[in-house]
Amino acid sequence: MAEKRDYYEVLGVSKNATPDEIKKAYRKMAVKYHPDKNPGDKEAEEKFKEAAEAYDVLSDEKKRAQYDQFGHNMGPQGMGGGFGGSYGFGGGMSMEDIFANFGDVFGDLFGNGGRGEYRSAGGARPRKRQKKGTDLRITVKVTLKDIMNGVDKKLKIPRLVACAACNGTGAKNGTAFKTCERCHGNGYISVTQNSFFGPQTSHVVCPDCNGEGKIISEACDQCHGTGVLEKKDEIVSFHIPAGVEDGQVLTMRGMGNAPRNGGVNGDLLIVIQEEKDTELIREGRDLIYNLMLDFPTAALGGTAEVPTVEGKARLKIVAGTQPGKILRLRGKGLPELNNNAIRGDLLVNVMVYVPENLSDAEKSAIESLKDQPNIVPDTSTSKRIFSRLRHIFQRENNGVN
Ligand SMILES: [Zn+2]
Ligand SMILES: [Zn+2]
Repeated sequence: MAEKRDYYEVLGVSKNATPDEIKKAYRKMAVKYHPDKNPGDKEAEEKFKEAAEAYDVLSDEKKRAQYDQFGHNMGPQGMGGGFGGSYGFGGGMSMEDIFANFGDVFGDLFGNGGRGEYRSAGGARPRKRQKKGTDLRITVKVTLKDIMNGVDKKLKIPRLVACAACNGTGAKNGTAFKTCERCHGNGYISVTQNSFFGPQTSHVVCPDCNGEGKIISEACDQCHGTGVLEKKDEIVSFHIPAGVEDGQVLTMRGMGNAPRNGGVNGDLLIVIQEEKDTELIREGRDLIYNLMLDFPTAALGGTAEVPTVEGKARLKIVAGTQPGKILRLRGKGLPELNNNAIRGDLLVNVMVYVPENLSDAEKSAIESLKDQPNIVPDTSTSKRIFSRLRHIFQRENNGVN
């Protein structure tokens, strides 16, 4: 695949171009490279698509910010990279997507109120806007284990689907139409007016039939003319990849609602919700576990059991382990999204338990320790432990505990 050109470069605008400048630049490109003006010219078509894609990103505040930060590698919610690919829609826009955007850009230019009809500047027949159904949004809870390994989900998701009896048209048998009277079946009507290009006659999609040239003469009795039916019990299967984060959105194209009277389906947006683990704290790819050691094990050494996402692990504790010590279990953290080879660590934060509610015998045992020469810290050990404790407090201040 050829390397993608910078979107700003494509539109010939500066990095800090205003939305208005971006829109104007895109208009110019779209008019110049429009397929109606360059029939059969593959290069013009590519330029046309390239400009549309650049405009799609730069005209959207969120997408633009993401693009400014990450460039073409925009990660899971971006276009082209990350997850989109796992569902087979790895970026690029179809001509339908492009024309769907046209109304927004050319709406005010031609003064048609942004209804989304595209008027051709020449005498060519305008294309009608492809209707799109609404998106569905669901929240899916995932555990750390799911995030570690990825997980397959099956969910019942009610949605609107195209009526089979009328093929989504809303007309009886999909055939009960009559010719639209307003446009006499052409699907468009002619309008003469002054425009950006000077006075001219242009064609506009017929508002009565939405460019179909025909209207329903007898409604389908299954969907009562809407072209859609509610499907309540459809099971949708999807895969959540390893390494996802709370709040991330996976898009399944075409799994949203069907629009009324035909068109393309909306999308299904799957919002990831991470269930908090009772023991492990997530910090990006790393996991943190607070280990409470008893004093004898900290002083004499031994082993300790720590939880990992994949079960318990045993840790060697060396004699003289201080509170605040961080023990790192390499590779026991979470994988990076779309790259299982990169894994975080499990950080074990050692704390030492000071016993409470002692019996008399225990009290006297500890009492007897006080007289031992190595029990009380000297100045140099105090300093060493102090610097560790400062480290812990700084972590807490940074929101880690
Ligand atoms: Zn129907
Ligand atoms: Zn019409």
